[in-house]
Amino acid sequence: MTITDAAVAGEFTHLFCTPVTLDPVCAACGTAGRMRDRVERKVTDLPIVGHPTILHVRVRRFTCDNSEYTTRIFQQRTPALAEPRAKTPRR
Ligand SMILES: [Zn+2]
Repeated sequence: MTITDAAVAGEFTHLFCTPVTLDPVCAACGTAGRMRDRVERKVTDLPIVGHPTILHVRVRRFTCDNSEYTTRIFQQRTPALAEPRAKTPRR
């Protein structure tokens, strides 16, 4: 992850980051996806100097153009950070 910004707001420390690696391959069919947009994924991490930390990860979303499916949108995977759809990091 590249940390792009950080802020302390109330009791929380917010870290804004983007993944360094890009994995644009559709898990369903293996086709390389087409860049669609970016969404924010929030993951709550361990406290930094007493403040609970919230990671705001900007992940890319892709469209799979494989004609066997109707339009399928998938999100960039971040396996080093957290399990898919998890709200807390891997560690
Ligand atoms: Zn696909």
